[in-house]
Amino acid sequence: DLFYRQLPKVELHAHLNGSISSATMQRLVAQKPHLHIQHSMTAINRGQRRTLDECFQVFEVIHQLTDRVEDIFTVTTDVIKEFASDGVKYLELRSTPREEKSTGLTKRKYVETVLEAIKHCKQEGVDVEVRFLVAIDRRHGPEVAMETVKMAEDFSVSSDGVVVGLDLSGDPTVGHGKDLIPSLQRARNSGLKLALHLAEVPSQQEETQLLLSLPPDRIGHGTFLHPEVGGSQELVDTVMKKCIPLELCMTSNIKGQTVSSYDKHHFLYWNNLGHPCVLCTDDKGVFATELSQEYQLAATTFNLSTAEVWALSEQAIDCSFAPESIKQDLRRRWAQLKREIH
Ligand code: 5GP
Repeated sequence: DLFYRQLPKVELHAHLNGSISSATMQRLVAQKPHLHIQHSMTAINRGQRRTLDECFQVFEVIHQLTDRVEDIFTVTTDVIKEFASDGVKYLELRSTPREEKSTGLTKRKYVETVLEAIKHCKQEGVDVEVRFLVAIDRRHGPEVAMETVKMAEDFSVSSDGVVVGLDLSGDPTVGHGKDLIPSLQRARNSGLKLALHLAEVPSQQEETQLLLSLPPDRIGHGTFLHPEVGGSQELVDTVMKKCIPLELCMTSNIKGQTVSSYDKHHFLYWNNLGHPCVLCTDDKGVFATELSQEYQLAATTFNLSTAEVWALSEQAIDCSFAPESIKQDLRRRWAQLKREIH
């Protein structure tokens, strides 16, 4: 729908390698025919569902296709341009630095390449402001997490403010959050913002409580926080008292089967409380969605008025990790576009 594409939007939860479009994917696959990869191995299409475990296998396949410096540059520029053409005016991308011995890719080179691609898009005049979160994959354990934090600290100094924080992601059933507290605490102390995947699967109350005590600056998913799904009022109270925004990804949660149907999505619970919720795509390539589609989905599922949809997209500006000057610019853009779009 044209309105949802034109609506200016803020994307705060987008994993780089999960965001690769089918057009880009086809080019990557064609460059590596020896891998014998089919489209069904890199995306979950309409009507299909997978377990969360199967979703993580999809990323392993994709990573084989993006193991060279030039692949990282290509996917980053393509993803930025695609978000921009969907009406995204501010984008926070996140990605896990990877090293690939066979191609000479190092973790540092990985981040440098993402940053070069961001700069390249800016120079080309792509109409979207981009920031980057360095991701910690919890599967890799506390040592790698600490190494990642140190690297993020270096880049936050050298990147002209493009690196703004850290993401904690990866298979939520592997490892325990408590082992990562020292790294995350250090990151916080050095001024990096924290966007943490939290309560993505059931029965992780202890870990959730612990990670909330940091506290994070934003929560990814938070699917199992509230008492109706086995969380607790105590967790809800903590999130509300600290006013920690939630990044909500409806299509991802349905296709990954952590939420049973759209109308049962926890957007309803939190939005009814007036708590800041930001609609996001998570992995627009893997889950075959777009941010405009997520807004339309929320509007139709929960009967949101046009004014409520605008309020939702505007509120996301406040939840971003952008400096106040950028937020002011974005708010002015929103006001101007509100007069132009009907
Ligand atoms: P990358 O960090 O390689 O750019 O993007 C893919 C990675 O993002 C995955 O390997 C995984 O660590 C993380 N990721 C993507 N989607 C999800 C999700 O829905 N939940 C969690 N916990 N991690 C995810």
